[in-house]
Amino acid sequence: MKTDVNRPLLQDGLGRKISYLRLSVTDRCDFRCTYCMAEKMDFLPRADILSLEECLLVAQTFISLGINKIRLTGGEPLVRKNFSWLAARIRELDGLRELAMTTNGSQLVRYAVPLAQAGVDRINISLDSLNPGIFKRITRTGDLDQVRAGVDAAIAAFGGHRIKLNTVMLRNINHEELPAMVEFAVAQKININFIEQMPLGLSGHDYARSFYSSQEALAQLKQHYELVASVESSGGPARYWRIPGHDTRIGFISPHSQNFCADCNRMRVTARGELFPCLGDEGMVDLLPAVRAGDVDQLRQLIIQAVADKPAGHEFDLTQSKPRIIRFMSRTGG
Ligand code: SAM
Ligand code: SF4
Repeated sequence: MKTDVNRPLLQDGLGRKISYLRLSVTDRCDFRCTYCMAEKMDFLPRADILSLEECLLVAQTFISLGINKIRLTGGEPLVRKNFSWLAARIRELDGLRELAMTTNGSQLVRYAVPLAQAGVDRINISLDSLNPGIFKRITRTGDLDQVRAGVDAAIAAFGGHRIKLNTVMLRNINHEELPAMVEFAVAQKININFIEQMPLGLSGHDYARSFYSSQEALAQLKQHYELVASVESSGGPARYWRIPGHDTRIGFISPHSQNFCADCNRMRVTARGELFPCLGDEGMVDLLPAVRAGDVDQLRQLIIQAVADKPAGHEFDLTQSKPRIIRFMSRTGG
């Protein structure tokens, strides 16, 4: 498919320009984070998952419509066989400005160098705790040493400025550790984003009780650091702060306390080819039949229509311990 020089820009009914695709390459994962998955998960049959070539076709079609940033995610993207091959093919596509990925870091010792060679521009590594016991409690199956070695490998292969930690804030689980997480990021010269937990999926986890807001975290961190608000934007929902004299940028992603839907520029495609225009809405467009038929025109029409119908925003309800959206985050791709 040749990229159209006068590519139409995807724009929704509210005038929001859509330039960013999050593409999930698998629903599987080697961790079982309590806020993301149930302990026992039913994964999709392999035949229902997009092949790597089909993922490439989806990426190519979105780019032909004006998407210029893609984040590969999951599940855990690095458990997908030949992931680096896919990353390299997507990176070569004409019109793409940035290829990023999000990973739990467990396989980075092995894959950091191949990913850098594939041309991945940035990596977000999820790390919620530096305490082995708490890390295990959150991830259920994760090994902290393996992830810390993965962070080191990523910094060596990419340079710290292209690595960011993602930390989900959890009251009475990791919230006391947030200053230590900042200290770690400062020492490693990498950025860090703190994320408010979103109530997604029926994992048996009590989202209301463990919710910890960005405001609380900010007040807590200000007791340890001089934080200066920054006007920087990475084109996403984070609000940024800096510590004078250090390279580290501290971001807060606050789907509850600072609704960012008015500026939303993204769409999400699952590993099964489901297009979700909004993370906080059940609305979905099934791209799989068009992808399997290799019908690019139909695929483009489906995407254009889904963008036009993108909901105004999410309404997460924190008063209930059970989520309203019963789709797991690992299915949609965080
Ligand atoms: N497995 C990879 C990882 O953990 O980085 C990529 C997929 S994961 C679904 C992407 C991001 O979503 C992670 O940073 C994770 O912490 C975050 N996440 C998962 N469930 C969440 C929830 N309920 N609320 C907020 N963030 C969540
Ligand atoms: Fe796996 Fe990432 Fe979900 Fe944790 S947050 S269970 S690492 S997909």
